Amino acid sequence: MVGKVGVGGTAPIVIQSMTNTDTEDVFKTSMQVAQLARAGSEMVRITVNTREAAAAVPKIRERLAQMSVDVPLIGDFHFNGHKLLAENPACAEALAKLRINPGNVGKGAKRDGQFAQLIEIACKFDKPIRIGVNWGSLDQALLARIMDENARRPEPKDATEIMREAMVTSALESAERAEELGLAGDHIILSCKVSGVQDLIAIYRDLAIRCDYPLHLGLTEAGMGSKGIVASTAALGVLLQEGIGDTIRVSLTPEPNGDRTREVIVAQEILQTMGLRAFTPLVAACPGCGRTTSTVFQELAQDIQNHVRERMPDWRLARVGVENMTLAVMGCVVNGPGESKHANIGISLPGTGEAPVAPVYVDGERVITLRGENISAEFRQIVDDYVSRQYPERASH
Ligand code: SF4
Repeated sequence: MVGKVGVGGTAPIVIQSMTNTDTEDVFKTSMQVAQLARAGSEMVRITVNTREAAAAVPKIRERLAQMSVDVPLIGDFHFNGHKLLAENPACAEALAKLRINPGNVGKGAKRDGQFAQLIEIACKFDKPIRIGVNWGSLDQALLARIMDENARRPEPKDATEIMREAMVTSALESAERAEELGLAGDHIILSCKVSGVQDLIAIYRDLAIRCDYPLHLGLTEAGMGSKGIVASTAALGVLLQEGIGDTIRVSLTPEPNGDRTREVIVAQEILQTMGLRAFTPLVAACPGCGRTTSTVFQELAQDIQNHVRERMPDWRLARVGVENMTLAVMGCVVNGPGESKHANIGISLPGTGEAPVAPVYVDGERVITLRGENISAEFRQIVDDYVSRQYPERASH
């Protein structure tokens, strides 16, 4: 359990994201956390890298409370986490979970002591820990040990296999050490992030076989735009389908001044299109082809998608089950009526040479035919009426 969010076992797969503001800036960080939470992030990670950032954490928590945002915060610690948390107990108190990276806890003789200090703090404040291995900061001493062991094998493994083995070993040995130090096993979550899709799949399959800890999934440095989305979806899709993964993050590099909430929406869409969770009504739209000479159906599909996203925060609070609604916006008579009948509400627009009419289907029945300039507004009204009619009001509303 992290804050109010259940993680692992039969709990639903949880969406996480991370801020990219300077944590010392309480205002900007609180605003971005609130924005990510409102977009649907169920936990938000913030970096805690300096004394000032550690001091800012309780203030961020307070400001979020003033905005009625109760999303659990995860503190991301590297190099100096033991010191920052020891000096600032209010920071540990304000966080729902601590993320530590075994490759960045400390070097040489200091490593074990600093790791133990972090675990002691987690125990004292009853905080779960994510042991988050990252291949960009893999524990070099451990890697050297595994390479030595490999060299002594009659048939040594190749470099890729050794890297994967080192990642998994780092996570499992750190978890074992944390339990020896007194941290309860149900307070441990593991992640092993890499940037290669096949590496991620192989590593998490191995982790899932070798331990029962909840696993946080994510491709690190996934990249920008469609590349980041495709790579994350490919990797997460395979693992989620195999039942591997309890929390996920889609690490997208935003365009300059781009919207950080994109990563949350992509994570929701991965889970929803796989049928694992429902967040918002989905709009099916055909890709269009030579049978359509206008962009009317593209504009309508976009209008409807935007309309649904805008209305969803209110609908979610007021109506039970609305996130399961399905919509279809189709470009011509070939697949239009068929696809529209499969959706809760579907519209089939006229293709080239077809009569300028757009039949609307509700739960498989043709209910009305729209024509003229106001098709978009009329269709949106049909959607709103359907929501009011079909999804019961919440008792508390
Ligand atoms: S439904 Fe019609 S317009 Fe859309 S892709 Fe199929 S044939 Fe083309």
